[in-house]
Amino acid sequence: MIKVVKFGGSSVADAIQLAKVKAIIDEDPARRYVVVSAPGKRFSADNKITDLLYLCKAHMDHNIGYSQVLQVIGDRYKAIELNLGVNVNMDAELQKIDEDLRNGASSDYMASRGEYLMAKLTAAYLGYDFIDTAGLVVFDKKGRFLDEETNENLKNALDGHERAVLPGFYGSLPDGKIKTFSRGGSDITGSLVARAVGADMYENWTDVSGFLMADPRIVESPKPIEKVTYMELRELSYMGASVLHEDAVFPVRENNIPINIRNTNEPENPGTVIMADVPDESGDIITGIAGRKDFVSFGIFKNMMSSEVGFIRRVLSIFESYDVPIEHIPSGVDTISIVVPLDKVEDHIQDIIEEIERKLRVHVVLQEGIAVIATVGRGMSSRPGVSGKLFNALAEANINIKMIDQGSSEMNIIVGVDNDDFADAIRAIYNAFVTNEN
Ligand code: ASP
Repeated sequence: MIKVVKFGGSSVADAIQLAKVKAIIDEDPARRYVVVSAPGKRFSADNKITDLLYLCKAHMDHNIGYSQVLQVIGDRYKAIELNLGVNVNMDAELQKIDEDLRNGASSDYMASRGEYLMAKLTAAYLGYDFIDTAGLVVFDKKGRFLDEETNENLKNALDGHERAVLPGFYGSLPDGKIKTFSRGGSDITGSLVARAVGADMYENWTDVSGFLMADPRIVESPKPIEKVTYMELRELSYMGASVLHEDAVFPVRENNIPINIRNTNEPENPGTVIMADVPDESGDIITGIAGRKDFVSFGIFKNMMSSEVGFIRRVLSIFESYDVPIEHIPSGVDTISIVVPLDKVEDHIQDIIEEIERKLRVHVVLQEGIAVIATVGRGMSSRPGVSGKLFNALAEANINIKMIDQGSSEMNIIVGVDNDDFADAIRAIYNAFVTNEN
């Protein structure tokens, strides 16, 4: 049994947190490969090390002294080194970073030092081998991630190591320069390592005990989600984004390795397991409800639209030319609505309307202030009455539905409501499916 464990920024924020990390690792000998983030916030007004490293580089670029910022970073690492009672030559490491910065090190390089130093400290503290991910996690010269090569590299490098700690978040370009993933990317590294060593489980330790069925700021004490499929999680992406990097799912999903989201501050909580197939034992109809405000809908009506070949493609190509990603396309025989997040079209709304009207000779009706809510559950497929119940709940709460979208996967029902009805709608759905069912 092999488990790959990834600890996020708040789990490695200081020596006290690291003691919890060690206790978690020591408790289960299967936890052999450890991926760490850079130290995050210890309290809400604190700084993340990664942000400070970017700040150093920005100061340097603007010819403003950066030494104070570097000092704050150094002090945090040195305090951890001291409090853990390990010696990784932190002074020399920090001096090297200072030198590299003066010699023109890139912003990616600077940011990567956060996880690099943290992995060194963690390896020394646990007595595990330190393995750098530069040269193993690789990108091509345009900065595109090289999946297969990375997998081979990690496999070969980890082969002779029983136990190791690796820094998350970065890899390297063909010329050896450091390249990072997007923010939160240590989750991806963890997933890559899990795939490479053929792990039985990828544990992602953070500061929440997995996912809840709904946002706790809207629904009072929502039930935790014990198990969710990869596919459901994608549909619930409005909810998952802050817990797990979206791209972290793909490497493990290919090999059917479950991801377990756990809380370093509450290790006894089993958290949420994300997997390919979940045995349908719970009998729950829905798995979760997630949504977001501020969408706009471009409503297009045209007689005989459905028999006009290429019509929809021409509409969509206009959105494409403005680089606007499309979220939902509910349609009727002679109508189609294009629903997109407001922040993705904001600057072009009038241009897009004008272009659709001119090129396709139609009238566009714009609706703003729409909130989109996805009710997701593998348990709803081929079960009659689910949408009836959902619409009933909204009707009873006196909420007008502006849009409905359900794919043939029958795994989710998406409704659009007025922004002002957002919270009430989520509560109504939750109560109908969860509170009143139990
Ligand atoms: N330290 C990086 C960040 O703050 C990467 C990570 O933590 O996953 O984005």
